[in-house]
Amino acid sequence: MEISYVSTRNGHEAITASQAILKGLADDGGLFVPTAMPRLDKSLQELSGMDYREVAYQVMKLFLTDFTEEELRHCIDSAYDSKFDTAEIAPLHEADGAYYLELFHGKTIAFKDMALSILPHLMTTAAKKNGVTNEIVILTATSGDTGKAALAGFADVPGTRIVVFYPKGGVSPIQERQMVTQTGANTCVVGIRGNFDQAQTGVKQMFGDKALNERIGKAGFQFSSANSINIGRLVPQIVYYVYAYTRLLKTGGITDGEAVNICVPTGNFGNILAAFYAKQIGLPVKKLICASNENKVLFDFFTTGTYDRKREFHLTSSPSMDILISSNLERLIYRIAGYDPEKLSSLMKDLTEKGEYEITPAMREGLKDFYGNFATEEETAAKIRSLYEDTGYVIDTHTAVAGAVYDKYVAETGDKETTIIASTASPFKFTRSVMKAIGKDRPEVADIDLTDDLSAIAGVPIPPAIREIKDAPVRHTTVVDIDGMRDAVTNFLGA
Ligand SMILES: *Cc1c(COP(=O)(O)O)cnc(C)c1O
Repeated sequence: MEISYVSTRNGHEAITASQAILKGLADDGGLFVPTAMPRLDKSLQELSGMDYREVAYQVMKLFLTDFTEEELRHCIDSAYDSKFDTAEIAPLHEADGAYYLELFHGKTIAFKDMALSILPHLMTTAAKKNGVTNEIVILTATSGDTGKAALAGFADVPGTRIVVFYPKGGVSPIQERQMVTQTGANTCVVGIRGNFDQAQTGVKQMFGDKALNERIGKAGFQFSSANSINIGRLVPQIVYYVYAYTRLLKTGGITDGEAVNICVPTGNFGNILAAFYAKQIGLPVKKLICASNENKVLFDFFTTGTYDRKREFHLTSSPSMDILISSNLERLIYRIAGYDPEKLSSLMKDLTEKGEYEITPAMREGLKDFYGNFATEEETAAKIRSLYEDTGYVIDTHTAVAGAVYDKYVAETGDKETTIIASTASPFKFTRSVMKAIGKDRPEVADIDLTDDLSAIAGVPIPPAIREIKDAPVRHTTVVDIDGMRDAVTNFLGA
């Protein structure tokens, strides 16, 4: 089956997967969605005998149908190699009755490595396929982890440049240090005086700015996006859910066809949407448990049918989930709106102009696969502490939000089905919050040095990603206002 891609806000101008990867966002501001949902063409049993790369090929070929087998395998082999510190790539860890799917064994010890280590290869392959000669400029807004993972993925990849905007003061000290020490002549890191949503809006405006696009085009550049709206991010994320299920099958944790729950700490709605897509292509999934922190706009949406971004923005200990506009939700809304781009567009217009939209009762029926809840800061810390005290396993703050929400789900429903919890960051990335939660913080010690204490209590060596930045020189110092983002880009490009 040939799959092509259409914008959620247009619906009929179909383009290929490689074109959708190059463009990132559609010209009309919509997100690209596949015109049909493929089905796995290998059995779960067969998949359970394959390694990560082979499962990746079996899943990704279903969506990226204009890539040749050779091209796709080359991308996969370039991405999932010794950059990961385990051959399993995404191992499962059982603790306290749940399976934690560790998605943090890549270069920057957070789950965004799973997609961003392959995206540059998908993108340069897509450029070649489409006869693109311009240099590709990745523009990215980050709430912390995307930025570093994108920088690490694109640094020194020929034919690409990357500009990352992050909210100054809105990311953890370790996250900031990871970004501002980034090497690579094609990288540019800019702090902004504003929050993540403002940074993301600024980036979206640049994508839609015709004059700016023409100007950089004349200088031999074209923009693309590495944000989780790019289908080149979404598709590689489907892989690890299929992989996790088939590992459980292989080890006897589940029987063939048995349904599992998947619980995901959610911000931009990309990771959980990938789990939903995994279900659509045939993975036996019962509930998709959407976990939010105190920025619980998604919980309110699932319980009321109204998405309302007019609310106070909280800075929490899980900053990668401090988001009020979950961009990828648009793909789900498009689906439950019966693939009707007009209906979808009018809802998105309401979101922009009124700050909220409400879906119909019929549309709410389409959300039955999801359960939403949230964890407060106290509940999140309590989960880190109790899991550590009961099992010795140390999880990060984002994963703890998911763990705490999963406990609420079980208490509310009594559902004892096998559950996979997406573990989205290494605890070493959020050392201060983790050590505070466990009651072993030493305020006088710098975050980066506190990792020694964490290593000792968790019995896990300090990951290279942390060791490397301890003494690395700061290479990026630019900080601008929101309305200075455009100039930051043109200056860097010399355009
Ligand atoms: C990005 C991120 C999330 C949220 O994922 P989305 O796909 O944006 O919902 C959760 N945890 C961590 C550590 C992240 O970096």
